[in-house]
Amino acid sequence: MAADVKKLKQRVCEAVDRRAAQLIETADWIHAHPEIGHQEVEASKRLTGMLQSEGIAVEMGTAGMATAFKADLGSASASTRPRVAILAEYDALPGLGHGCGHNLIGTSAVGAGLALKEIAPELGGSIWVLGTPAEESAAPNSGGKVHMVNAGVFEDVDAAIMFHPGTETAITLDRSLAARGFEFYFHGRAAHAAGAPEEGINALDAVVLMYNAISVLRQQVRSDVRIHGIILSGGAAANIIPDYAAIRYRTRADDSDYLAEVVERVVACAEGAARATGCKLEWKEYMPGYENTMPNKVLLDLMTENLRSIGVQVSNERRRSGRGSTDFGNVSRRVPGIEARIAITEVLETPGHSIEFREAAGSDMGRKAMLTAAKGLAMTAVDLLTNPEHLKRAREVFEADKRKR
Ligand SMILES: [Zn+2]
Repeated sequence: MAADVKKLKQRVCEAVDRRAAQLIETADWIHAHPEIGHQEVEASKRLTGMLQSEGIAVEMGTAGMATAFKADLGSASASTRPRVAILAEYDALPGLGHGCGHNLIGTSAVGAGLALKEIAPELGGSIWVLGTPAEESAAPNSGGKVHMVNAGVFEDVDAAIMFHPGTETAITLDRSLAARGFEFYFHGRAAHAAGAPEEGINALDAVVLMYNAISVLRQQVRSDVRIHGIILSGGAAANIIPDYAAIRYRTRADDSDYLAEVVERVVACAEGAARATGCKLEWKEYMPGYENTMPNKVLLDLMTENLRSIGVQVSNERRRSGRGSTDFGNVSRRVPGIEARIAITEVLETPGHSIEFREAAGSDMGRKAMLTAAKGLAMTAVDLLTNPEHLKRAREVFEADKRKR
């Protein structure tokens, strides 16, 4: 058995290498043609095209999202369980392009899928490659994975694995931040700013007051909290008292419970600003909440071992702190999951969501990391679908983690 597993892993690695040129070409193309969340039409077409060209059945529009997909690699037996899902992302950031390197995530998942397809009949279960749109919180209704969780997609999945580019190669138990997103709309009354300002109700003033109130609030919350926003609208002309202004905030904290408390205080800041200015306030959550991740130790160990077996230096601790949020959090609280970070730059200090990180996502080191990730994902799927013990233990750890929260 053990010898067979080793051979299967060798075969998936060779299968990734055989497709290296094609995968790199696709990663580079997506990098050069960035599309933001829910508009990843060309990226999803290219990725699914690669899968279909090798006879893999692809469903588009999963969970009601046009650019989502579910590729079914099939299985030998009638039994489709256990099932491993390999997650793809391919959305970009507005104005910045692939400053988070999702072009590499999508291609790594497809690379793993194509490799696994070759040995699928020899595995005891099945595999999906899931195309999950709009991970970045820039687009309204982003959080493709949350929509998929809510649509029940992960009820038919036993483990979810994915890769994310980083500034260090580290697979850790660190949790991402829980995050929610809000938009606040202030409605006032327009008036001539010189001739009759006393007739106006200034909606921009309300936004400014809210912005300042939030800045003050920041001192009185736990240090893990992040509240950050942009002004969406601040008036039409300097000689008109703005009758409408709007602001968008992301709010984050270690856990969803404390985040709920923070959100109440953020809303209170908006209400206070509306009251102070006489504006009418409307607000809404513009996207679903992201839960903090719950990385699975069993999957972490398998992924670490597999990457080390092909000569990758993997740490289980990060050298650099600083956390973001991901819709993979919601997935990892539904099924055992792990996200492997592989470095795409030698410069540890490279900030995410930056021009430097975007360059790294189109660099040779980035391309190599993508291929390495494809191998690591495929090998870990081999482990999970050849030895039922792994999934059993992953599930036990998952349940125990959930009890601890
Ligand atoms: Zn990202």
